[in-house]
Amino acid sequence: MKPTIVVLGGGYTGVMSAIQLARRTRRTGAHVILVNPSDQFTERLRMHQIATGQTLTDYRIPALLAGTGVEFVEGWATRIDPDRREVAVAGADGHRSLGYDYLVYALGSVADTVTVPGVGAHAYTLNSRAEAERLNARLAELARAGAGTVAVVGAGLTGVEAAAEIAERYPGLRVVLLGRDEPGSMMGAKARRYLRGALDRLGVQVRAGVEVSKVLPQAVELAGGELVPVDACLWTTGFVAAPLAGDAGLTVDGKGRIVVDATLASVSHPSVYAVGDAAAIRQGWGEIHGTCQSGIPSAVHAATSIARKLRGKTAKPFRFGYVHQPVSLGRRDAVIQFTRPDDSPGRWYLTGRAAVAYKQAVTSSPPPIYRLSRWFAMPTWTLSRTGGRANLPPALAGQP
Ligand SMILES: Cc1cc2nc3c(=O)[nH]c(=O)nc-3n(C[C@H](O)[C@H](O)[C@H](O)COP(=O)(O)OP(=O)(O)OC[C@H]3O[C@@H](n4cnc5c(N)ncnc54)[C@H](O)[C@@H]3O)c2cc1C
Repeated sequence: MKPTIVVLGGGYTGVMSAIQLARRTRRTGAHVILVNPSDQFTERLRMHQIATGQTLTDYRIPALLAGTGVEFVEGWATRIDPDRREVAVAGADGHRSLGYDYLVYALGSVADTVTVPGVGAHAYTLNSRAEAERLNARLAELARAGAGTVAVVGAGLTGVEAAAEIAERYPGLRVVLLGRDEPGSMMGAKARRYLRGALDRLGVQVRAGVEVSKVLPQAVELAGGELVPVDACLWTTGFVAAPLAGDAGLTVDGKGRIVVDATLASVSHPSVYAVGDAAAIRQGWGEIHGTCQSGIPSAVHAATSIARKLRGKTAKPFRFGYVHQPVSLGRRDAVIQFTRPDDSPGRWYLTGRAAVAYKQAVTSSPPPIYRLSRWFAMPTWTLSRTGGRANLPPALAGQP
């Protein structure tokens, strides 16, 4: 019997895993299936560009997979039965069940719209292309009216990129960036200063050290009761993974991410591998946080692990180290903080035109990498710095 490998999620990591699985299991004749709700590939790195009405290249997943032998199934994964090794998929043509020998879980993450009251009802998110387009429609409406206040909640890199993009694209709107920390708090002092200067130049008003406790139709409420009147609120914080894995009884962490061992297999269900934002991956220096930078190497590694197992070999530990924190500040400015493997800021940083070109190269890189990876079995080290050493989760390592 030829093995079947189902990959759930056709984002940055799912597409990479599927292509590498097909490439690496050619001799075993494995059947690789990729499941995604749409055949359109969503460049999540560019969600803030969609939210400000910019036209992007229209990548289609079947075209990215062309020539690889991967079967594409359009639909939503609605349930996983890890005992029977089956996934239920709801598509336009009805429901179906896909059996698997190995499952790659690459469903990404979304901003948490549940924990803070009012977010689900009154805030916009960058969780999907449709959501970003909905925000763009509102911003265009406010711009046509000649004025409006947009609150961007969350001063992480997604919030900073979104606030800068909105301010640049819609200079007539007032943009307020609300966050617990200073924007760029993970960067070194010089890069952080540059980032703050760029936000000031774009007219973004920063309020750091605040906690939003509620979102209302025309305002956000801060802890302490202050109301900030807004015409639109963009929520970019508190990322969580889909509930599917937890519902299926797999071991997940507090954010719903699958807890994996050093080879990226689920600690509770070894036939399930998790990658990208949906995986809780530990390295010697700490836990990986969701980025494309770490996600794509994890996708390659999971494919390698499965291919080795199918050949009767032992899977190797995943090792990863960060290289950079690239942040766009509108289309004409950017700042890149180069980092140590644990993502702490190093000495070097890049700003201005050079940083814009660097950021553009990083953001545009996944589709060309996919094309290359159809022909080559990509080693993880080509895509990351192996500064980390994969650790077993504490429970498995016998620690408290
Ligand atoms: C505005 C913005 C800017 C960013 N900038 C950077 C950056 O500069 N550098 C960086 O490294 N990272 C950046 N990130 C983070 C990066 O986008 C994520 O870490 C990356 O997308 C994770 O890849 P993924 O494949 O795990 O998830 P995604 O790319 O989110 O893919 C998940 C896929 O799963 C699909 N899916 C979801 N649920 C189901 C289901 N039930 N059934 C089937 N399919 C499903 C989704 O439709 C999607 O196609 C940014 C994120 C945002 C929002």
